[in-house]
Amino acid sequence: MTASIDASVPDDLARTVEAHGIAVAAADNATVLADFLPDRIGQLIGSVDVPEQLERAEVQSISDVGDGFFDAIIRYTKPDQTWFELRSRWVRFEDGTWRVFSVRNIPDTPPWMRPTGPSPDGLDAPHWEGLRAGELRLQRCASCATWIWSPRPICPSCHSFETRWQAVEPVGTIYSWTRTWQPFAPEASGHLPYVVVLVELPAAAGRRVLGVLAHADGITPRIGDHVRGVIDQPPSDEHWPLFRWHLEDAHT
Ligand SMILES: [Zn+2]
Repeated sequence: MTASIDASVPDDLARTVEAHGIAVAAADNATVLADFLPDRIGQLIGSVDVPEQLERAEVQSISDVGDGFFDAIIRYTKPDQTWFELRSRWVRFEDGTWRVFSVRNIPDTPPWMRPTGPSPDGLDAPHWEGLRAGELRLQRCASCATWIWSPRPICPSCHSFETRWQAVEPVGTIYSWTRTWQPFAPEASGHLPYVVVLVELPAAAGRRVLGVLAHADGITPRIGDHVRGVIDQPPSDEHWPLFRWHLEDAHT
């Protein structure tokens, strides 16, 4: 097939992307690493899952995504003729060469993390069972009605031991956020970078909860942006549901 390449894509970028795909397929690591932005090599290596044996690479498309960035999609075929695709984002480096700024496996599937789930003391188990039931449940003091997060054995306000769990509508606003480039767990490979948001929940008297913002590639969140929580149920019983925030408003 013929690759779909935007008219604004420079010829030297198209040549670099093609050579990069061939180097990845050949496991020519020295060439592959030389294509990475120097200060991102460690992060980029941790960003994707690539099998050891590859047969060939084919550039599917190169798109101008603005601000000097170009996205390339390269399809890699394994010896058994199955294939997968990687999306790499390219930018011109100070020495004039094109370098990889970010890379990830596509499609952008949810990262199912083994470390998630109830803590050993079981204190937050009702929260996780709530996600399985399709609800965001937060702890609340039965005595003074204070919302409590993260979970704790006594109410931080009145010191009552009587706490309950209550479902909260999963809508709120972004109080703060950060973009993470480090794969803190092996399952994060192929999902970097990701954006963590601190969300203020009006339905829980402004209590704030941490979470991941879905589909945040190329998005710069703003403080006060409206978000809605969506629960993805896991593909098997070995994982717990994944709760992620989605921006409610159109965004660039
Ligand atoms: Zn209380």
